[in-house]
Amino acid sequence: MDKKQLQKFIKWLQEKNYIVIGPIKEDGQILIKPINEPSQLDFSGQLPLYSFKKFLVPSREILFKYKKDDFKADLTAFKQALIGVSIFDLKAILLYNQVFEKDPYYQARLNNTLIIGQSQIPQFQSLSFKVWEDKYEEDILEHLQFDIFLGQAKEKKSSEFKIFTGSKKGQQILNDFTKQSGWKSDFEHIEYAGPIKEQGANPEMTKIKEKMPGSLETDIWQNLDQRCIECGKCTIVCPTCFCFSLADQPCLNKDEGMRKKCWDSCFYAEFSEITGGHKFLKNTAERIYNWYYHKFVRIPDEYNFPGCVGCGRCSMVCPAGIKIHEVLESIKNKK
Ligand code: SF4
Ligand code: SF4
Repeated sequence: MDKKQLQKFIKWLQEKNYIVIGPIKEDGQILIKPINEPSQLDFSGQLPLYSFKKFLVPSREILFKYKKDDFKADLTAFKQALIGVSIFDLKAILLYNQVFEKDPYYQARLNNTLIIGQSQIPQFQSLSFKVWEDKYEEDILEHLQFDIFLGQAKEKKSSEFKIFTGSKKGQQILNDFTKQSGWKSDFEHIEYAGPIKEQGANPEMTKIKEKMPGSLETDIWQNLDQRCIECGKCTIVCPTCFCFSLADQPCLNKDEGMRKKCWDSCFYAEFSEITGGHKFLKNTAERIYNWYYHKFVRIPDEYNFPGCVGCGRCSMVCPAGIKIHEVLESIKNKK
């Protein structure tokens, strides 16, 4: 499929009432937003600072509204096509698919979402870190969940995409497009083989996972305690941070109100506070340790893959200059 056909395909999706959301360049920044015209999409390979997270796990949502004893959950979700999802963000979606497996709100959204990945490697990859993978295409497609995948041709100037499908939904959509547009179909189906590679859990992940417990007293966390200002920026940009808070909000009308869900950050002091003012995470060192422990021990224990996809976004936004790959090196080198 060349770029012109891709543009036709996007137009066709819009005609089918999909809201098409993808990377676009605005004021020198790559943002992920709904597009009007296919030509707006930016396939330069620059990783957007914000991930696709909010389109599957919204920053705010009303879970239900109540009136006396009666309450209604709104599970309607609009049709959306997320296009240009990087490998990093596809890995994050893989994690959401496990964590929110029984969440009806997430599932309703996922059912109405077409996920179109792309293989481009971010320009600032050298600033992030290659912890988990050396190859981005050959090695990992069968361990990701997507509907359609646009494989970028190696030559930068080529306008050809190699098309893969990863679900029945993706195959169906492309078959329909082929019939209606006369596009000569040339896509290959990839059978999902689960999140873990045949050779087992990632050895780097295992090394970090083994070194983490019992490290709270080391200088690593005391040093970060002095530097981290608990702004929570790293959790906002992180595609795999999904913690949230719940709040009931009564309306002025008697007996009416709603329950709201909102992104939260474990870096905030109130995050672990319970009735009576007790905090499970008492200081910055404990909170930042908890963040790393969650990503590199708790999630691997649960799913056997890491809770960090290695995108480097947290390092890019940290006002204190904390770099995750440096922290992980210190953990790995801990005696
Ligand atoms: S590199 Fe940072 S932002 Fe990216 S997934 Fe890992 S923890 Fe999150
Ligand atoms: S972005 Fe940096 S300073 Fe802010 S909470 Fe995260 S680690 Fe701390």
